[in-house]
Amino acid sequence: MPSIRQNGQKSPSLMLRRIMPQDPALTLGDLVGKVRMLRVECGNCGRIGTYSLRCLVQHYGREQTILDWKDQLTADCPRRVNGHYSDQCRARCPDLLKVL
Ligand SMILES: [Zn+2]
Repeated sequence: MPSIRQNGQKSPSLMLRRIMPQDPALTLGDLVGKVRMLRVECGNCGRIGTYSLRCLVQHYGREQTILDWKDQLTADCPRRVNGHYSDQCRARCPDLLKVL
């Protein structure tokens, strides 16, 4: 198994923080009044989606965390299924960077 340090890459936790800077406990309810639509993008899979926050709250409830919702949303992603570290699904919500 190749060592990550030998490749001169950043540690996995640093990379993860860069990809998902948002609070893991952030809920849909926290975004009410801040955003109307929630975009999800994944550069690796080419996934791009826009979701109405109002519909998401109606469907999942205000207590649903963004992280869990995104996990459900991307559960069918082949890059999540195969689980290779170097080729993982990198779905993120770019709008969260603006409001938090
Ligand atoms: Zn993906």
